[in-house]
Amino acid sequence: MATIEWRSPASEMAVQQFDNAAAKLNLDSNLAGRLRRPDRAMIVSVPTRMDDGRVNVFTGYRVQHNDVLGPFKGGIRYHPAVNLGEVSALAMWMTWKCSLVGLPLGGGKGGIACDPADLSRHELQSMTRRFTAEIINFIGPEVDVPAPDMGTNEQVMAWIMDTYSQHKGHAVPEIVTGKPIAIGGTLGRREATGRGVVYTIMETAKHLGIDLLQCTAAVQGFGNVGSVVVKELANIGVNVIAVSDRTGGFFDAKGLPVAKLLEVADKNHSLEGCPYGEKISNAALLELKCDILVPAALEMQITKENAPRLQCRILAEGANGPTTPEADAILREKDIFLIPDILANAGGVVVSYFEWVQDLQNFFWTEEEVNKKLRDILVKAFHEVLNMSQKHKVEMRLAALMIGIDRVARAMLWRGLYA
Ligand code: NAD
Repeated sequence: MATIEWRSPASEMAVQQFDNAAAKLNLDSNLAGRLRRPDRAMIVSVPTRMDDGRVNVFTGYRVQHNDVLGPFKGGIRYHPAVNLGEVSALAMWMTWKCSLVGLPLGGGKGGIACDPADLSRHELQSMTRRFTAEIINFIGPEVDVPAPDMGTNEQVMAWIMDTYSQHKGHAVPEIVTGKPIAIGGTLGRREATGRGVVYTIMETAKHLGIDLLQCTAAVQGFGNVGSVVVKELANIGVNVIAVSDRTGGFFDAKGLPVAKLLEVADKNHSLEGCPYGEKISNAALLELKCDILVPAALEMQITKENAPRLQCRILAEGANGPTTPEADAILREKDIFLIPDILANAGGVVVSYFEWVQDLQNFFWTEEEVNKKLRDILVKAFHEVLNMSQKHKVEMRLAALMIGIDRVARAMLWRGLYA
């Protein structure tokens, strides 16, 4: 990300975080120079026939940051703000995340600049298939394995799997994760990220001596991650007092009726028109007095402007990159316990890894096995990060990055430089 093409607020933030951790690790400058930028970045045109007969040319991206530990792994995002810099930052975070939780996978990310809510099912399918065809020579079960992210879901994964399989002439379920169960998906994948966020919150509460039954929570974003976080928090007795999505938020100091919210979101595909609690903005939700705050939507939601007004005790980053480095410094002063994104939301890629392994072996696990293995991995990673943070007297984000980067750097040293 040293050159201009990769520059964006998100990529600058990812590089700044990397530089902080690299400095703390005394990382060799040659290695740091290689890790600051992706191995490969693709920009592709995605011509798509719209329902009215026009051909709309969307721009698609796939960035492969580092594959020293294994195949590139990372989601595909459909959102109007997708750009090369954002995708590059997300790919870099995937490298550290996979390494942190001990997966034999590297970091990648992709996306198309589009608003999926404006596209018909047919348009979405055509765009997805053409995008897959454009990047097909650079993905593969042993090369680069996509997954869902914002704006994509199991249906989009099924179209990618089908397009890839048609080109190969046989079914290749292991080309993507987050697929429907019927075509090789794993039990527990849809819930994995949100469930993982809650597992890390439970470990944090134990560490801080907090009783979760007395806790309140506010969650920004009500999609794949946010809605499951809300459901799982309610299941363990946390009082969810505020939720939001792109249409705005809802707040009730006494607690929101979670089951009913889930019903509304399921029916309307958003929280719009939800009859519960009072309406609040997304910005106001972040500043509510609560014990647990979970940003589970976009990057850079917590900045130097609003960080001084945060009133939570635990900040669990369901989203990738929701907190800027300037805000990190403020949160440290406020004594807010941070569960950083590459730890808090790693449940998604962990169960994606389980799905890939099951597909490769053609042997499938029960949901109990999936959840137990997921929890074991996240609890272990949580304590490794906590120990690192205590040993080096650094905040949790820096500790998590140090572990993730160090493992990648060591593997690169063993493999050397092919030149
Ligand atoms: P999603 O598309 O399923 O849901 C996104 C949610 O955010 C929706 O409720 C949407 O309405 C809301 N939203 C969009 N713009 C918003 C705004 N400006 N303010 C408030 N809410 C807004 O996406 P997701 O898969 O839940 O991903 C959410 C975040 O979690 C992203 O940062 C993603 O990278 C991260 N993440 C996802 C996974 C996964 O497995 N899906 C894994 C790890 C991290």
